[in-house]
Order: sequence, then C-alpha cells, then structure tokens
Amino acid sequence: MQITVPKNVRTIIGILQDNGFEAYAVGGCVRDSILGIVPNDWDITTNAMPLQVKSLFRRTIDIGIKHGTVKVMMGNEGYEITTYRIDGVYEDSRHPKEVTFTTDLYEDLRRRDFTINAMAYSDKSGIVDPFEGQSDLRSGIIRAVGSPRERFGEDALRILRALRFSARFGYEIEEETASAIRELSPTLSNISAERIREELEKLLLSDNPDRLRWAYELGVTKVFFPEWDAMMECEQDTPHHFTDVGDHTIEVIRYIIENYPSLSKEDDRVLRIAALLHDIAKPVKKFRGRDGYEHFTGHPEEGVPMAEDVLKRLKYDNDTINKTKKLVRYHDELPDLTYPEVRRFIVLAGRENMDNLIRLKYADLYGHTKYKWDEKMEKLTSFEQMYQKIVRDGDPLSIKELAVNGNDLMKEGVAPGPALGEALERLMDRVLDDPQMNEKEKLLMYHRGDG
Ligand code: ATP
Ligand code: MG
Repeated sequence: MQITVPKNVRTIIGILQDNGFEAYAVGGCVRDSILGIVPNDWDITTNAMPLQVKSLFRRTIDIGIKHGTVKVMMGNEGYEITTYRIDGVYEDSRHPKEVTFTTDLYEDLRRRDFTINAMAYSDKSGIVDPFEGQSDLRSGIIRAVGSPRERFGEDALRILRALRFSARFGYEIEEETASAIRELSPTLSNISAERIREELEKLLLSDNPDRLRWAYELGVTKVFFPEWDAMMECEQDTPHHFTDVGDHTIEVIRYIIENYPSLSKEDDRVLRIAALLHDIAKPVKKFRGRDGYEHFTGHPEEGVPMAEDVLKRLKYDNDTINKTKKLVRYHDELPDLTYPEVRRFIVLAGRENMDNLIRLKYADLYGHTKYKWDEKMEKLTSFEQMYQKIVRDGDPLSIKELAVNGNDLMKEGVAPGPALGEALERLMDRVLDDPQMNEKEKLLMYHRGDG
C-alpha cells in the first residue's frame, strides 16, 4: 500500500536515508493515512541519534533531546524526529525511568500503545506493521501491543487513550485489552489532571459519546469523575424521562453532534462540556414526591458548584468554567415570555452564552419523553424568537450600552462610589423594561425623578 506523504516529510526522510540512516513516518499519521484521514501532524522515527539529526538539518529545535526528539523546521512547519527507542521501566505508572536508544525499528514500534498506532511507513519500505495494525483497522479494534496488563501497568494514561481512540473511530476494545482496563483503571490516580483532561476532552469531542458509558462500566470515570458514575446509576422515575441521567446526558450530546455540526470549535467544546454536566446534581437532588414520581428540584442551582468542582479538579481554565456554570444554571429555566423578562434573563445568563444555552435547551428537550412536549417546545421556540428580535433590535443589555455614563451622573451630583453604581443599575433596569428610554435626556429626567 502506498501512502501519500507530504513533500516536507519526504524531504526529511530522504535526507536521513541519503546519509545512510533509516527513517519512517510513524504512529498516528500512518494510521490516519490508511484510513483516508488527513493527519494533523507527521512524526518521523529514525535510527540516527539526536545529534546526528541536528547535524543534518539547518533549523532544528531541541524539544526533548533526552527522549530522543528533535524538531526540524521546514518553512513554518515543524516535524518531530525521534530516535528509535525503548522505554525503560516505568515508575508509578507514569514516567519511564529512562529511555534507551535502539537501532531496531521493531523495538520502537513495540513500545507504542495500540496496534493501530504501531505502524511505520516509508516510500522505500512501504508499511511496516509487525503487530497487525492494518488488520485491526479493518475490523475496527483497539488492541494493546503485547500484553495489555503490562502496557497499562507501564503507563496508565493508555487506559484513557484506548477509550479515546475507540470513541474517535467508533471501534470496539478488544476483550483482553478491555479486561486489563477494568483491572488497572484505579492506577489512573497516578496520572496528572492535565493529561486526563486532554484525553477526556478528546473523547467528549468525538462522534461516539456512548463511550462515556464504557468509561463508566470499565471503572475509569470513578477515578477522576465519580459524579459521572452517580449519573449513570441515577434512574429517573418520572413521566419526563425514559432513561437514567447518564444515558439521557449521552442522548443530549448526540443531539448536539447531529444537529449542530458547524459550530465553532470553541462553542462546540463548551456546549459539550455543559451538556456533560448539566444534570450533574440530579443524583443528589432526587426525591420521591407525593405524586409518586421522582423529582429533582433545585438541580440546576446545585449543579453550579458541582460542575465547578469537576472542572477545577481537571484544571480547566476560568473562561470555560464560567461559561459552563451559566449553562448548567439556566439549562432548565425560562422567564415569562415578555420582552422585559426575556431581556433580564439574557443579562443573567450572559449574552455571550445565549446561543449555546438555546442549543442546550433544544438538545435537552429532545432527550426527554413526549410528555408535555408540544407545550415545552412552543415555549422554547417563542423564547428563541424573542431573543433573536432583541439581538436584531440591538436592545441595550449592559451598562456600557446606556446613553448616559458615570460622568453624566456625577455632573448631576451623584457621588462617585457605590451610589453611582446603584444609579446606573436603576437606569439599566428602566432600559431593560423599555429600550426606547435609552436616550440621554430621557434617562437624566428619569434619574432626576421626573421621567
Ligand atoms: P492524534 O491524531 O490524536 O495526534 P496520535 O496517534 O498521533 O493521535 P499522539 O499522542 O500524537 O497520538 O502520539 C503519537 C504516537 O506516539 C502514537 O501514535 C503512539 O504510537 C505513540 N504514543 C503516544 N502516547 C503513547 C503512550 N502513552 N504510550 C505508548 N505510545 C504512545
Ligand atoms: Mg499525533
């Protein structure tokens, strides 16, 4: 099989070969090329030692000489060239104690995590595939290279990587690999929050959110996201729902994937994180009402600190945390459908969150039973139309959009400090009721008490 290698990669491999070394494209780029996916980066592996690699290229960056990696710059693009290596004994399921360079490509491929990631390619040699990665690609299987128990024992992050690749490609996890995951998932506690977050997020951003259920079943989420286990275990005995909270959540994410395929990367990311966490507090808020059904009163409010807790644990940035908190808080609530109330709601939830909030509400609604569905849908649709009109009309929604500012009010004799803030708030409130009021004279009159 022939793989189309980009020109720069061909050049790099060619230079190494012309100087008597072996060189191959390796790992994810080979896998993706076989699948017909354009790889996002090309890694190169060689038997040349790092200093030899450096001597052959004009512009190089030492990004991990100790681990054998040199980055070669071609134009604006960088390519990582790593010397064939054997990872030494791992300490604490995390760090290889040392790496040893080797002259044997087979040894380098053998240290890699899954068969589909353990292939190399050069135009000269074609695909080098000692662990039958191509066969696993054809059957759609994630299989550890060698003994899964040993491999996960060396590096627990591979446990999450297995789920992530399974989610990305919609693949099954081979039986022995899966049972090693089940056995060793507690060792994920040795892995840093940042690395866990990266893998979890890739899983969440895949087309197969049901792998979140697998992560639960294999004991993986228990380690860093036990709230998810509680959701998966939380039945909902109510006419509004047909599944447990976890499976409802997966349905909501699936709706987002299917119905909002062209969101910006950032919107998509935040929306999916919020979807994952929107009902996080249901398990702790569940009670059986006098009507005989289960209820979850207060779960959006309680969900805010719980979502924050999870995201902080996973070392998320504040912007993501703040947006998510708003989406969780307001996912289940709509104002009275009058323009003043809708404007106030937008201010509370944050104008910048509204598009995602509305998407989350539709997705959430589609994840419910048809009970009172028309009524709920009608309300949501009307709300959305009112919101759109408010945006179209450019109704002022923040103090900085008011036709008067602090200086204007100080000229009216308002003292700087809290009183000024309160006066502006009062004017804002008036304009939220009636945007026509947003004219300097009208607002000053109102302020003076004769508006
Ligand atoms: P992606 O498309 O997400 O970048 P990838 O397969 O390129 O997927 P990387 O994390 O970039 O994944 O790693 C590149 C290669 O390095 C992998 O294909 C695999 O061969 C190897 N590798 C990466 N992480 C590990 C690990 N934890 N254990 C063993 N091998 C690994
Ligand atoms: Mg990669």
